[in-house]
Amino acid sequence: MSDLTAAVYVGLGANVGNRLANLRMALDRLGTLARVEGVSSLYETAPVGVSDQPPFLNAVCRIATGLEPAALLRFLKSVEWEIGRRPGGQAWGPRPIDLDILLYGERVMDTGELQVPHPRLAERAFVLVPLAELAPELRHPLLGKTMGELRASVGEEGVREIAPWGWETGGRLAP
Ligand code: ADP
Ligand code: MG
Repeated sequence: MSDLTAAVYVGLGANVGNRLANLRMALDRLGTLARVEGVSSLYETAPVGVSDQPPFLNAVCRIATGLEPAALLRFLKSVEWEIGRRPGGQAWGPRPIDLDILLYGERVMDTGELQVPHPRLAERAFVLVPLAELAPELRHPLLGKTMGELRASVGEEGVREIAPWGWETGGRLAP
């Protein structure tokens, strides 16, 4: 059953092309099938995993949607495609856009294709810093810790805020 009241958090990242335009377009497209209820500040982050690639822009948004998790993932993949991402790139490598389901309310699931909460959420500062900004008291349904606690345990190294809330609709940002 879909749950419009579930707090669903989506992570956005980009490190190829016009990163800011890509994130703004992704939010715009998300708004066609979901209600975007909150957007974090914008962060520039050092790449994790594959270090020899450009820095990322990252943010997190909260949405309300009637889409079930699997349908939401398909939609996110269609938006990634529209923004120019093609499947089969290097794992954790450069990409014009990456859209991940971080949390879907309290749901816990693993279908192989889709794991919720996102399996690497608790170890990634580039996710936890923007996520804890939006929802510091929200508890991870498996780990039992709040996003604020998880952020404190990973620290904020490699994550730098470059624009406050409002970046998604504003004009040009300083580079
Ligand atoms: P990452 O986001 O970790 O860099 P990719 O974007 O390349 O990895 O995604 C690889 C696959 O991860 C996707 O094709 C998708 O099926 C799967 N996946 C599993 N759980 C999730 C999730 N919660 N959100 C997004 N993708 C997920
Ligand atoms: Mg992804």
